[in-house]
Amino acid sequence: MTDTTQPTTPTDGFVYAPAPQATDVVDIRSSYGLFIDGEFVAPEGDGFRKTVNPATEEVLAEVADASPADVQRAVAAARRAQTEVWGPMPGSERAKYLYRIARLIAERSRELAVLETIDNGKPIRESRDSDLPLVSAHFFYYAGWADKLGYAGYGPDPQPLGVAGQIIPWNFPLLMAAWKLAPALATGNTVVLKPAETTPLTALHLAEIIQQADLPPGVVNIITGAGETGQALVDADVDKVAFTGSTAVGKAIQRSVAGTAKSLTLELGGKAANIVFDDAPLDQAIEGIVNGIFFNQGHVCCAGSRLLVQESIAEPLMERLRTRLSTLRLGDPLDKNTDIGAINSAEQLERITALASAGEEEGATRWSPACDLPDRGYWFPPTIFSDASQSMRIAREEIFGPVLTTMTFRTPDEAVAKANNTPYGLSAGVWTDKGSRILWMAQQLKAGVVWSNTFNRFDPTSPFGGYKESGFGREGGRQGLAPYLEVTI
Ligand code: NDP
Repeated sequence: MTDTTQPTTPTDGFVYAPAPQATDVVDIRSSYGLFIDGEFVAPEGDGFRKTVNPATEEVLAEVADASPADVQRAVAAARRAQTEVWGPMPGSERAKYLYRIARLIAERSRELAVLETIDNGKPIRESRDSDLPLVSAHFFYYAGWADKLGYAGYGPDPQPLGVAGQIIPWNFPLLMAAWKLAPALATGNTVVLKPAETTPLTALHLAEIIQQADLPPGVVNIITGAGETGQALVDADVDKVAFTGSTAVGKAIQRSVAGTAKSLTLELGGKAANIVFDDAPLDQAIEGIVNGIFFNQGHVCCAGSRLLVQESIAEPLMERLRTRLSTLRLGDPLDKNTDIGAINSAEQLERITALASAGEEEGATRWSPACDLPDRGYWFPPTIFSDASQSMRIAREEIFGPVLTTMTFRTPDEAVAKANNTPYGLSAGVWTDKGSRILWMAQQLKAGVVWSNTFNRFDPTSPFGGYKESGFGREGGRQGLAPYLEVTI
């Protein structure tokens, strides 16, 4: 069912002049090789694939497809660098390289933010103000640990695992690279990193920064390609596999490494409940709901994709939410006024479209504000479903798009039962005036992160990770060192 009570024009009353970000700050090459042993090299086969700007469908560059032989080459380079150079190097020396990388990222942050926006589709406001500051902060933070590992609580002289194979998704391409690389390098591991096939460019520019920082050859290798390249990396002679992505691929990887000596961490999907009690500060909660699900077009594993509202305030809250959504600006991701950018790929758009249609077919009420979608590129309007029930696909499956599923509850116990009624357990949000209720809810919710009166807050000092089908292992904080050290926790 579609709710037709929508405004016909954006309703915030302001007319914004275009505020385009200049793109000449970044030099995109027409073709990128593989970054192995400190150099960009041609792949052994002749495979290349194109990466496009999802906001325009324009081809940006061609990027090498790493074959299993290329993966072996990268792992061999990482092995040599680990045993001969990086492993034996004192932590205080490793720290200097990490600080240098962090500073170079900060210096080149506008260039990287623009590149991220062009390759991913996310608004420049987010890549500039959220992703990039966190990327350099991660390197700064873990640089600080490199010479203090003996004080991290993992024994007096914890040792690195060796070579880490790291596979990252397309939703926060550079940030996920930082989450993976910084703790691995700080702890004395070397790395082979595979970015997602639709968003390889910022990782490849990070390779240039790694060269600029004079990191010894082979310490970081970046190989591009599709799922088969990721699978080859999982199967290669690595000591550790770190994966962020879908639960289905995470499970397949877990099966592949079962019975081997490889250590594994998985950061997978989510279906987070964002829970609003009747005593919550409503204006603040509205901003948290919007940030929770429409940040990064909802391509966020910890997105607050299930809104649970206490029944007594459901109506006024939904009205305010609709009014607020009507002020969001969807369009050119390079415009500094844009709130909602492009969907990352045609495949992801298809998946979001199919799940939203399933929501209508199953009887939920669908609403989107009036908004013109650009003619080219991949776009989906911010969408809210109300009258949803827990059995519907939109309440159970990760949509990974700008789609919010709303349900109501009457008591705190019911809120907890509904919030935990999911195979996932990555994050949750609680909005209430009562501190005791926040603490009680945080204890009841089976989620790795529980935000209270805020949402989607990240800091390198804070561990992040899931329960149940959201995966295992933690990234960030002191805890984020453990998956890269020979420790039992
Ligand atoms: P995937 O899990 O397929 O992709 C994540 C990474 O794994 C990519 O680098 C991918 O490469 C790689 N990969 C794919 N297959 C394999 C394999 N068999 N072995 C090793 N690595 C592999 O996610 P999708 O991009 O297909 O997205 C599908 C859904 O997953 C989304 O709709 C969303 O629901 C969820 N998702 C969740 C994320 C999260 O952070 N929790 C992140 C991304 C997606 P390639 O890009 O070349 O396929």
